[in-house]
Amino acid sequence: MESLRELYRIGLGPSSSHTMGPAKAAELYLARHPDAKAFEVTLYGSLAATGIGHFTDRALAQVLGEARTTIHWNGSETIGDHPNGIKFTADGADEWIVFSVGGGALREMGGRRMASDVYPYTGMADILAKCETTGLPMWQLVEEAEGDGIADYMEEVLKVMNASIDAGLKHDGVIPGGLRLQRRARSIYRKARFLQSEFRRTGLVSAYATAVSEENASLGTVVTAPTCGSAGVLPAVLRYLSETLGCDVREQVHALETAGLVGNVVKRNGSISGAEVGCQGEIGVACAMAAAAATYLYGGTVPQCETAAEIGLEHFLGLTCDPVKGLVQIPCIERNAIAATRALVAAEMAILSDGRHRVSFDDVVATMLRTGHDLPSLYRETSEGGLAVLVKDGF
Ligand code: SF4
Repeated sequence: MESLRELYRIGLGPSSSHTMGPAKAAELYLARHPDAKAFEVTLYGSLAATGIGHFTDRALAQVLGEARTTIHWNGSETIGDHPNGIKFTADGADEWIVFSVGGGALREMGGRRMASDVYPYTGMADILAKCETTGLPMWQLVEEAEGDGIADYMEEVLKVMNASIDAGLKHDGVIPGGLRLQRRARSIYRKARFLQSEFRRTGLVSAYATAVSEENASLGTVVTAPTCGSAGVLPAVLRYLSETLGCDVREQVHALETAGLVGNVVKRNGSISGAEVGCQGEIGVACAMAAAAATYLYGGTVPQCETAAEIGLEHFLGLTCDPVKGLVQIPCIERNAIAATRALVAAEMAILSDGRHRVSFDDVVATMLRTGHDLPSLYRETSEGGLAVLVKDGF
C-alpha cells in the first residue's frame, strides 16, 4: 500500500482521473522533452468520452503549452488494460503510454505503478490483525509506517478540506459547463441553521458536502478523498462531527488517517476509478472512508470502524457512473450529500453493533471490483448511458 500522500492529493477539480492524473502525466512527459516543438496527446476510452466535460484538454494544454499541443479524442477504443489510457509523443517520437487509474494516480503500460509501497499490509484483514496483536488504533499504524511528517501533511489536508467548504458556502451563481446548474450549498446552509434535530443534521452535512462538490465542479481547489468527484463526503462528515462533538485538530487528523487506511485497501485490492468500476468506486469508497472516520470520532473500536466502512460501501455496490454532458455535476454533486449523510448512518449502525458481522470489508471490496468489471462500459464514465442519455440539459 502506498503513502496516504498518494490518496489525499491537493489540487484543482473537477476530476482526479480526468484532470489531475493527465496533468501530472503531462508534467512528467514535459520534463523529458522541455524543448519539444509539438506534442501530440491521444486520449482513449473514458478519457476521450467525457474528457471535454471534465476539462481534460484544458489541463493538458496548461502544462504542455496550448500552442504546441494537439489532442486526439479516441473514445471508441481503449488501449492496454485500463479505460483511461493516454499516449504522448514529442515531435513525432518517444511514444509514452500511461493510464490515469483514479484519484490522480498513474500507472505505466505493463502494470508499473508510479509510487512505491510504504505499508506491509495486503488488505483490511492484515490491518485488523495488526491492531488486535498490538492494541494499536488504525491511525497509529499510519503514523508508524509513514513517520512524523504524515500528521503535518494531514493537518494541511484538513485545512484545504475546510477551506473548500468555506469557499463553497460563500459562492453563489451558476456552475461552469453549460448545464446552467445553480450553486445550492449556500442556500441549504442558511436554511439548515434554523432547523432542529435530524432535519438540521441532514441540512448541515448536505450543505458542507455540496459546498466542496460545487467548488470542485467550478475548478476550485479540493482534496481527493478518494477522488475529486467524491471529494465532498469526508470533509462534510469531519466538519459536522468536529462541530457537534467538539473534536480538536489532532482527533480529526486521526480520523483522516483511519479513513485513509480504508481508502488504501480499496486502491490496492479494488479500484477508485469511475471509468473502471463505476461510481461505487468513488462515492461508495468515500462513504466507507467517512463512515470509518465518523466511527473513530464517535469513540468506536477498530472492528466497529471496519464494520462502518463495510456498511458504507456495501450499499453502494453497483452504483453506476453516468454524468450528464460528461460534467462532474449531475448526479455527482447531490450524490456527495447523500453519501455523507449515509456515512453517519453507517457509523451509528456500527457503533450500535459489537463489531462482528458476516461480510468483511475485504469481501465487499472484492465484490465491488467484480461488479464493476461486470458493468457495461455505458455506466463507467463514458456518458453513454443512464442519466447522461435520459436527462436533457435544459430545464
Ligand atoms: S457519477 Fe460518480 S464516478 Fe461518475 S463522475 Fe460523478 S462522482 Fe465521479
